[in-house]
Amino acid sequence: MIKPFVPQLVYIEPGAMEYPLGVQLKEKFEKMGIEIRQTTSHNQVRNIPGKNDLQKYRNAKSTLVVGVRKTLKFDTSKPSAEYAIPFATGCMGHCHYCYLQTTMGSKPYIRTYVNVEEILGQAEQYMQERAPQITRFEAACTSDIVGIDHLTHSLKRAIEYFGESELGQLRFVTKFHHVDHLLDAKHNGRTRFRFSINADYVIKNFEPGTSPLDYRIEAANKVAKAGYPLGFIVAPIYIHEGWQEGYRQLFEKLDASIPEESRDDITFEMIQHRFTKPAKRVIEKNYPKTKLEMNEEERRYKWGRYGIGKYVYVKDEEQELRETLEYYIDQYFPNAKIEYFT
Ligand code: SF4
Repeated sequence: MIKPFVPQLVYIEPGAMEYPLGVQLKEKFEKMGIEIRQTTSHNQVRNIPGKNDLQKYRNAKSTLVVGVRKTLKFDTSKPSAEYAIPFATGCMGHCHYCYLQTTMGSKPYIRTYVNVEEILGQAEQYMQERAPQITRFEAACTSDIVGIDHLTHSLKRAIEYFGESELGQLRFVTKFHHVDHLLDAKHNGRTRFRFSINADYVIKNFEPGTSPLDYRIEAANKVAKAGYPLGFIVAPIYIHEGWQEGYRQLFEKLDASIPEESRDDITFEMIQHRFTKPAKRVIEKNYPKTKLEMNEEERRYKWGRYGIGKYVYVKDEEQELRETLEYYIDQYFPNAKIEYFT
């Protein structure tokens, strides 16, 4: 996706109109000529057009619901942060392995919450509870927040809020390059801006509806120049023909683009490809033509929480992936911090 996301259909919950952002968004979408429907709650968003489940799924992913976040209890978000901060749920991307397919189930549309100040107020309470320790908030647990923020600017508001706080830090990850409006945010170094990156082959085959690799890298360059602490999540690390070369090229491209002055404060997180049985079923339903390899027999079963185990690469492959990727990071970004490989 090269152009910034524009919804095809917008639902507005009446409660949203009690907040300035709700009113602004309604006006904005009216001006853009987008069809707007009123609804009493997001559970009523049932009439998403489409002849069959697949079409409805696709249409839902370009539907935006403007609503109010009622539950202000934040989920935890280990290991990368203490809490998940909920500004939006859902995503317009079509990554075949996206975990939202299982977590959002029958509601794949995108919701944005207009009670941003209440959400930030709740974050403040969590920070006070943990004082004097720092509390980290992850803003991309349930959506790709950067991908819709050009419409709402809630993330920008949060970046500036945490920029002024003494006890809070913000972080998020994105597969989109629409970052220009965030470059002048007063972040004060308290937001870590991460990009999800992968070998070109993986992005081209399994991440439709997101930004191409070169665009993400160019965006990372801009973000670094704007002084944000930078991070990369290489995920999912996926074995394919020529993967060693594919990942090497990825690091070469990063090396050519990331400015020297930001290299002492870069983090890398690495996640190998995995799937669960329920996820495999949903992926095959939503993306019936996918080339994604999900053969249980070629994988190692790892027990998981709630009794749902996941299939990861066998030990030898896992070891090889880890060593290869760590070697590239070491070679190209010797001062970066590797946070984990999982
Ligand atoms: Fe899911 Fe992220 Fe892809 Fe969106 S960009 S579909 S949240 S994996």
